Amino acid sequence: MTRKTPALGARAAKAPLTPLTIDRRDPGSHDVGIEILYCGICHSDVHKVNNDWGNTHFPIVPGHEIVGRVVSRGRSASRTRDGDLVGVGCIVDSCRACPACRAGHEMFCEKGVTFSFDSFERDGKTLTYGGYSTNMVVDERYVLRVPNGLDPARAAPLLCAGITTYSPLRRFGCKPGDQVGVVGLGGLGHMAVKFAASMGAEVTVLSTSRDKEKDAARLGAKRFVATKEPGAFESLEGTFDLIVDTVSAPHDLDKQSTLLRSFGTMILVGLPPAGSRLDAAGLIHGNRRVAGSNIGGIAETQEMLDYCGQHGIVADVETIAVDQVNDAYARMQRGDVHYRFVIDVASLAGAAA
Ligand code: NAP
Ligand code: ZN
Ligand code: ZN
Repeated sequence: MTRKTPALGARAAKAPLTPLTIDRRDPGSHDVGIEILYCGICHSDVHKVNNDWGNTHFPIVPGHEIVGRVVSRGRSASRTRDGDLVGVGCIVDSCRACPACRAGHEMFCEKGVTFSFDSFERDGKTLTYGGYSTNMVVDERYVLRVPNGLDPARAAPLLCAGITTYSPLRRFGCKPGDQVGVVGLGGLGHMAVKFAASMGAEVTVLSTSRDKEKDAARLGAKRFVATKEPGAFESLEGTFDLIVDTVSAPHDLDKQSTLLRSFGTMILVGLPPAGSRLDAAGLIHGNRRVAGSNIGGIAETQEMLDYCGQHGIVADVETIAVDQVNDAYARMQRGDVHYRFVIDVASLAGAAA
């Protein structure tokens, strides 16, 4: 049995998002049925709809920053109760048995992870549809608890932008007094600023948008550098212990790597469409390191949410109705985001075609 569900999706690369109807499975014994309240718009949704990475299946229903309420549970699903506020991020299933899954790195499941959209269920053929929809059915192991006190719309972006920035800051030991540079002040960037500042670091924002300077300070940054202005990079050479690069478009990584101190680490989380290049010489001089980081596993995502609950950390959001999503996509591609668009999913009910 399946349930017809109103959703918003794209039928072809770069096509506008329009209402459509998808099928959701009935909850199995370990599943949780979730009524979706809010879903953040990540730039990865935009890349996927544009087929920037060349691997999108259409039609696509994006969305992996999902907050909702539990409305039904399978016989053996005991971790939540009806009415609980829960989150679903990028990962909705994995093999659960391989070394990566057992270590809590489900995104690197050796049998192939199931992402919440544009991915395949464990049967290898059923396409997943994401959170731009009114409900979802997810195995309870992949459902996160949203701590009391966090605003649901502002908590939604934690499920991707939050974990993607929290995880590498933790892994590379961000600590009081560290100099942290955050490149790109969008959804991921503004969460990186909040997390690094909460861990005691001194944060510098490097942005192409001079008009984000005041916001950077409000979010917790000590310094702001407009990267398009002459001399911007030279003034920062050898400064940072950590750089978190969240930029969604190609840019000069060589120049950026000179901003690291000796033994400093440049963490790449932004995933621009074209291949980026990086010269060895700039890294070798100063034993600098470059690292990639891919979201975070389920246990670490729960740890991040609990940390946000303790520290009162949520995203700065513009909540929009479903008919504003295409405009939001256009704005994100211009860097005009303050700092996460979140869809009020109630506006979807009845919109399906
Ligand atoms: P976003 O909200 O659109 O922010 C990206 C920011 O990058 C923009 O606000 C802008 O900041 C800067 N930017 C855009 N174009 C630029 C250009 N041409 N040159 C320099 N800076 C530019 O995007 P997001 O949702 O934070 O996602 C950022 C990237 O991370 C995307 O590529 C996304 O796919 C990727 N991502 C990766 C992971 C992972 O697991 N690694 C997870 C989620 C997302 P300024 O205005 O401040 O310059
Ligand atoms: Zn994302
Ligand atoms: Zn696995």
